[in-house]
Amino acid sequence: MKFIDEYRDAARAQECARAIARVATRPWTIMEICGGQTHAIIKFGIDELLPRTLTLVHGPGCPVCVTPLELIDKAIDIAARPGVIFCSFGDMLRVPGSQTDLLAVKAGGGDVRMVYSPLEAVRLARENAAREVVFFAVGFETTAPPNAMAVHQAKREGLRNFSLLVSHVLVPPAMEAILSSPQNQVQGFLAAGHVCTVMGYHEYEPLAARYHVPIVVTGFEPLDILQGILMCVGQLEAGRAEVENQYTRSVRREGNQPAQQILREVFRVVDRSWRGIGVIARSGFGLAEAYADFDAERRFGVADRRTAEPGECLSGLVLQGVRKPVECPAFGTRCTPEHPLGATMVSSEGACAAYHRYRAWNRNPISV
Ligand code: SF4
Repeated sequence: MKFIDEYRDAARAQECARAIARVATRPWTIMEICGGQTHAIIKFGIDELLPRTLTLVHGPGCPVCVTPLELIDKAIDIAARPGVIFCSFGDMLRVPGSQTDLLAVKAGGGDVRMVYSPLEAVRLARENAAREVVFFAVGFETTAPPNAMAVHQAKREGLRNFSLLVSHVLVPPAMEAILSSPQNQVQGFLAAGHVCTVMGYHEYEPLAARYHVPIVVTGFEPLDILQGILMCVGQLEAGRAEVENQYTRSVRREGNQPAQQILREVFRVVDRSWRGIGVIARSGFGLAEAYADFDAERRFGVADRRTAEPGECLSGLVLQGVRKPVECPAFGTRCTPEHPLGATMVSSEGACAAYHRYRAWNRNPISV
């Protein structure tokens, strides 16, 4: 298949791994930002191809994983109300809140619908004028433009029964929070190619300069990731700290300008709470004042709801690259994909779920 098989060629992957081994003379720790990259690394055993001196740690780039528990509780609260049609992508439906999840609300008679596009929710609002239609808008910069388009469309049509429950988060502030933490071990980053397809990579350049850390914009297939690691290690060995683009087939420095324009119109940058990490200043999108009427938190009066995270889960440390999933005492015993304690086990892109699926037999920390 074009653009899949070429990037999974085993011989080329071995060749690239040998090139990394030749270049890497010292121990380095590199973080891949995106959960999709984490999944590919564990699924294809990329970490096991690398020299033992290189450590890959897994970043906070899984939208389900970083959505705070209190927002799940707010979604459940709204979805259970009579007269509401609650729309979400499928991956959020089985994320446990503090008491239950959206699938259980649906089983109990709530009108919870899985949709494939926020525009489906706009259509439902158009067709159900007597009901409130809410779309659960989570994710990084990648999913924000279509959600912005949906609310823009609803406003243009004068749909007063449509709203967004928003929890969009932004990658650069999370990287800065990791780099400025006293626990930080990360010396180089693989940035998420799809986020940079939308936003470009110019906003990473001040980070690379300020923290003297190489950042390589990287794709999601095995050869993408290996090439991204090679570029990152090359910079580390040479003492360089620049932003480089491995994912040239999709990413330009300036990103997608029309997408950024609709983001600027519909959203404003706000402080956001990240699950397991806490509040990071100016790290997310909320609706701009001109679109405040479409804010589900205001419409349903749930903005002030607070929920404490369970103490046992170490997902905050996993998401910051400080711990590996298998170092959590609950991994594979009290916490499994069937009975997850934390969001990094719920989501298929979560690091704990990836280790459980592909490495459940190995209860010891993976050394690479
Ligand atoms: S294994 Fe479960 S409890 Fe442990 S960090 Fe992962 S999600 Fe949290």
